[in-house]
Amino acid sequence: MTQEWQAGRLDSDLEGAAFDTLAVRAGQRRSPEGEHSEAIFPTSSYVFRTAADAAARFAGEVPGNVYSRYTNPTVRAFEERIAAMEGAEQAVATSSGMSAIMAIVMSLCSGGDHVLVSRSVFGSTISLFEKYLKRFGVEVDYVPLSDLDAWSAAFKPNTKLLFVESPSNPLAELVDIAALAEIAHAHNALLAVDNCFCTPALQQPLKLGADIVMHSATKYIDGQGRSMGGVVAGRAEQMKEVVGFLRTAGPTLSPFNAWIFLKGLETLRIRMQAHCASAQFLAEWLEQQPGVERVYYAGLQSHPQHELAKRQQSAFGAVVSFEVKGGKEAAWRFIDATRVISITTNLGDTKTTIAHPATTSHGRLSPQERANAGIADNLIRVAVGLEDLADLQNDLARGLAAL
Ligand SMILES: *Cc1c(COP(=O)(O)O)cnc(C)c1O
Repeated sequence: MTQEWQAGRLDSDLEGAAFDTLAVRAGQRRSPEGEHSEAIFPTSSYVFRTAADAAARFAGEVPGNVYSRYTNPTVRAFEERIAAMEGAEQAVATSSGMSAIMAIVMSLCSGGDHVLVSRSVFGSTISLFEKYLKRFGVEVDYVPLSDLDAWSAAFKPNTKLLFVESPSNPLAELVDIAALAEIAHAHNALLAVDNCFCTPALQQPLKLGADIVMHSATKYIDGQGRSMGGVVAGRAEQMKEVVGFLRTAGPTLSPFNAWIFLKGLETLRIRMQAHCASAQFLAEWLEQQPGVERVYYAGLQSHPQHELAKRQQSAFGAVVSFEVKGGKEAAWRFIDATRVISITTNLGDTKTTIAHPATTSHGRLSPQERANAGIADNLIRVAVGLEDLADLQNDLARGLAAL
């Protein structure tokens, strides 16, 4: 029973398989031991049968593992599974979500190229562009996420890449990905989407016309807040460049973390379903509370892009942000009154988290920049986990009582 026989059998049986089957089985390879759950390969290098075999594998003339900076069976299994789930030709795993973004820009852009970034992206994404990539001659401009006319107006002759996060954090703003992809392509630019908040279980940007999708696997793909990782997926033409960058620069995913993510993907859709159902309930309930001024959640009728969210996503995600009556002090009292929910800025965990964006994730911005980003001092963000819904509701009620 050779490895090839088992791998081939698994691959051919997955032709035409649906999302849930791919999430559990795509990319699986078995060693001659016949293990059922995927094996972890914690090895830095691989032995070759002969010197000629080594030469052929280094030259890429025959397939096979070479060195785990760029070829590892556990990492490859994760890459193949996420590619299947996103509908991508190829996926490339990275050491974190941030290194996934860095790999996209480093492999596809050069000094002198212009990149358009949506204004409401993850804080470190802005720092990566502002503090580092600009120093190497990449030009960067920021565009309001949902404003398609502003995107069209922002192009320059050297615009190479558009980078967006939809839905955005923490205010759940969206962009029409299909429309933006058309605009990008009309200008010979590529559209990359940070799909961290939806995961492929809720939104598949490549199928909407985006060229590249990336994730912080640290969040919902892990799902239990244990490990750092990222992934980039898209067409082989671009992924070849991303692989080349990783092979050379080395922000590679470890086999152990790849294994955690493989296991995470197997339960991703049912977890997301549970996260989203609880988030929807809590968002609707919060909207009724006298102490709450406004709730930001795309699953609410009151959300200005509710119809787009219904069209573009299969559910509305699990991050619920809301403004409470009063200012920063009231928001802090609300947060400090909770007893079950964790005070931390992470998300995508089984454990529900609560944070005050104005003094944490967006604390480094000036008051004016924060106002531009729509981050008010009375804004609270909750990333809804998988605890009992009544317990979460009671905990948030403690916060409301403390306002
Ligand atoms: C967390 C996060 C990142 C960065 O990912 P890391 O794994 O923390 O490096 C990028 N984008 C979004 C939307 C995130 O939430």
